[in-house]
Amino acid sequence: MSRQLFNTAPDWLEAQLTEPLPGMHTDEQRMRWLIALARKNVERQTGGPFAAAIFDMNSGKLISAGVNRVEPLNASIAHAEMLAITGAQQVLGSFNLAADGLPACELLTSSEPCAMCFGALPWSGIRRLVCGARAEDAERIGFDEGPKHPDWIGELERRSIAVQRDVCREQAVAVLNDYVASGCTIYNGGKGAELGSVHIKSERSAASEMRPDKALE
Ligand SMILES: [Zn+2]
Repeated sequence: MSRQLFNTAPDWLEAQLTEPLPGMHTDEQRMRWLIALARKNVERQTGGPFAAAIFDMNSGKLISAGVNRVEPLNASIAHAEMLAITGAQQVLGSFNLAADGLPACELLTSSEPCAMCFGALPWSGIRRLVCGARAEDAERIGFDEGPKHPDWIGELERRSIAVQRDVCREQAVAVLNDYVASGCTIYNGGKGAELGSVHIKSERSAASEMRPDKALE
């Protein structure tokens, strides 16, 4: 059994990261590079239409990159942001990217974080979040972004994580649209919502079954 939980990048991404990177000095340059990874992940059929990367905010140096790997790994947590964050923490040798002596880290993501990835951000130690497509762009094609806090940007900013939205949004949305047009699986959209409602119903019925037994008295 493999125990390399987070060593999950597809071969093409591993190979690409060993090549010299193009100059990426601005948010737009970094986002365009990231969106190209998301597109390649779809073309190579190695996961969903999402990519994320951690950069040193000051030098612009790439620290880690991840693409969505939910389907090929059978892992619902294998979102691009989760893999990029974990990759950076393992490269830098700390569970906290804000630890003393480490570079200030920013997370770029081709699409705004879902509820799970949003929840992971304050624990990661990143200082800045940069997003391409908006959550509603992903939801429009059927992805379920989950029960995210309505003031998620305010919540991050109160925890000293700056947020920049809509960087190359159109190009990021184009990858999402091309993904759905190609007939690929929307693995957590309608299906996820349906499973969610079944789950809630079963919890309710479990609770109502307990009452006649006076189990809590
Ligand atoms: Zn996510």
